[in-house]
Amino acid sequence: MKQAVYFEELGNDVLECRLCPHHCKIEPGRSGLCLSRKNLRGMLYSSNYGELTSIAVDPIEKKPLYHFYPGSEILSVGSWGCNLLCQFCQNWEISKSRPRIIRRVDPEQLVEISQENNSFGIAFTYNEPIVSFEFLLDTSRAASKEGIISLMVTNGVIEEEPLELLVQSVRAMNIDLKGWSDDFYRSYIGVEKKYVQRTIEKSFAAGVHVEITTLVIPGLNDSKDDMDQQARWIASLSEDIPLHLTRYFPNYKMEVPPTPPETIFSLCEVARQHLNYVYAGNIGASEAGDTRCPECGELLVKRRGYSVTVERLDSEGRCSNCGRNAAIIV
Ligand code: SF4
Repeated sequence: MKQAVYFEELGNDVLECRLCPHHCKIEPGRSGLCLSRKNLRGMLYSSNYGELTSIAVDPIEKKPLYHFYPGSEILSVGSWGCNLLCQFCQNWEISKSRPRIIRRVDPEQLVEISQENNSFGIAFTYNEPIVSFEFLLDTSRAASKEGIISLMVTNGVIEEEPLELLVQSVRAMNIDLKGWSDDFYRSYIGVEKKYVQRTIEKSFAAGVHVEITTLVIPGLNDSKDDMDQQARWIASLSEDIPLHLTRYFPNYKMEVPPTPPETIFSLCEVARQHLNYVYAGNIGASEAGDTRCPECGELLVKRRGYSVTVERLDSEGRCSNCGRNAAIIV
């Protein structure tokens, strides 16, 4: 365990965690909503510090990050716990409890593991990295000293102050924007959407490479009007921010049938009215994962599943045909 950074004492050893907007009030001996912050005798601890439940070398497209070193592989790690209560959680085995099989590492060991695997970076993914804030921060700082980058796949539900620290050492984020309706966020996610928007805005403004993912669930967040507004809002930051619309499958407590692929394709068309890079995910190998130049239509990156071919990009990430900046880090 490691002492948590963000909390306030409320008296009588009760603590308020200030890492994320839930601001859990935690009695001695109890944990917050995410399970991974525990009050021990009036001090708040991160109880998943250095605890890994998954470690693998993955294609970066699996995060998904399509505009950040396409075709590369990256050491990917997950811990346990999550600060949201989504009924459709796709990783509930590690987000809702502490699994029995855990591997413990310290930040320097994880950096060494990354080097041993010839990985250019470490991806914090699988469960929610925010609830491992201290480990994420310590590791990303240690990694950057060795020239290794850090990235995270996150729900974006974090307070401003810790986010300001994270964006200094995390180079890329895929942030879930789980829908556009405020009611959907309140009813199915249990948090206000505005916090996620704030994380997207601030991370992008800080120079972090940002991509956005929306898991589309039939009848819950598949409205074309909502997608139109969502895409307009993303475009107000930049038309070049990649948006991934992924197909949902029943999991955890959600029994709604899988999203029809046609729904994903039609929402992609709506989003493409405002954004230059919109991708369909979880629908098998198709052209919907390819990157084309928004200017001349040239095929820049071809993706068939995790088979990736960089076709027409120069070393600066520009279209080799017309020279347009393709907003891809290569
Ligand atoms: S990080 Fe966990 S304990 Fe802290 S406020 Fe969020 S859910 Fe509660």
